[in-house]
Amino acid sequence: MPKTLLLRHADRLVTMDGARREIPDGGLYAEGNRIVAVGPTADLPATADEVIEARGQIVIPGLVNTHHHMYQSLTRVVPAAQDGELFTWLTSLYPLWARLTPAMIGVSTKVAMAELLLSGCTTTSDHLYIYPNGCRLDHSIEAAGEIGMRFHACRGAMSVGASKGGLPPDSVVEAEGAILADARRLIETYHDPEPLAMQRVAVAPCSPFTVSRDLMREAAALARAYGVSLHTHLAENASDIAYSREKFGMTPAEYVEDLGWTGRDVWHAHCVQLDEAGIDLFARTGTGVAHCPCSNMRLGSGIAPVRRMRDRGVPVALGVDGSASNDGGHMLGEVRQALLLARVGFGPAAMTARDALEIATIGGARVLNRDDIGSLEAGKAADFAAFSLSGVGFAGALHDPVAALVFCAPASAALTVVDGRVVVRDGQLATIDLPVTIERHNRLAAQLAAG
Ligand SMILES: [Zn+2]
Repeated sequence: MPKTLLLRHADRLVTMDGARREIPDGGLYAEGNRIVAVGPTADLPATADEVIEARGQIVIPGLVNTHHHMYQSLTRVVPAAQDGELFTWLTSLYPLWARLTPAMIGVSTKVAMAELLLSGCTTTSDHLYIYPNGCRLDHSIEAAGEIGMRFHACRGAMSVGASKGGLPPDSVVEAEGAILADARRLIETYHDPEPLAMQRVAVAPCSPFTVSRDLMREAAALARAYGVSLHTHLAENASDIAYSREKFGMTPAEYVEDLGWTGRDVWHAHCVQLDEAGIDLFARTGTGVAHCPCSNMRLGSGIAPVRRMRDRGVPVALGVDGSASNDGGHMLGEVRQALLLARVGFGPAAMTARDALEIATIGGARVLNRDDIGSLEAGKAADFAAFSLSGVGFAGALHDPVAALVFCAPASAALTVVDGRVVVRDGQLATIDLPVTIERHNRLAAQLAAG
């Protein structure tokens, strides 16, 4: 018999189900990694192998982060990259990233995932696109297994170096044949297509300005042969658009359409500068967007037209983006920034608190092409987070705890459960020794910065 878990007496349980039920004195009952019942505490079984009392807390579906570069937590606030826009920011950081090692990938992945888990996030993708010194995506996947996070590992890649008109230095690009062979190996080794999978792999050339047209096409063919998703960066800022027009004679949307990079199995990060025709294309094809508000503000890239995208039917999710352009990985904080940035761009009606939470939960599930996460319903993964409502940050806001969670200062999770397993308990990470991991991370970060 699988282990049973009962969470009960939550002040409010946000389901994100079809009716968007928000249940007072709510709870849920899970068997193993699957939810079997959600509702008022009085309607749930009276006991279980593990019983969690959630009085004074709000419970939400685990947040879904759809864009990240976890290795970048080693290079936060690097002085030379603090104040540049996308291309200058990248070119300042490439030489540091060229010195990454496998140990750095492992430890930075754990630090980034710890930050996400402690902010209520249970599923994340990571886009690793630089593989110097024997680094492999396997190192990220191992770290995810150790910490216990649901993981979509994206096999990124760069193949067009500066000598061929690309942005990165030649020293950090790979041969296209080797990229595709490694992506195939990773899919065959790690990708789990089954419902409630903890481990999926996506094929994810870094961006149009770092790989060739051929690689984009072949990556799509490979992904589709295996039924895995495709991911890249797109239409991030004005220079990105200028590069696309100059090199390909097309807008980013025309370029991805030409390459077959549209559909429910594709999601693009940013899309800040996606034009009207692009929004229509994405809506028509179900192509997803990972909206990254902090990164877009940090690099001054602009304001993604999220409301317009959603009104037209584009699947929109949320991403914290890499730790060098955020420079945080607080997922609930990102939800708040999405709300605020939408309002800066398009007025206070552009996004409600519940819209923002929807983007970060079922929006994320849809963009990752999953129907087994993102809401608390029978049959779905037992992935959820609880936040205490008794702290000073929520004082005076308890007439609407759901909105409080988004509008008020970003809180840390008291409890995070992934796949039926408690990963954060009493606000502390329960699966790894975090202080030791942070110390090791900081030693390696200093080593990287020292050159
Ligand atoms: Zn990114």
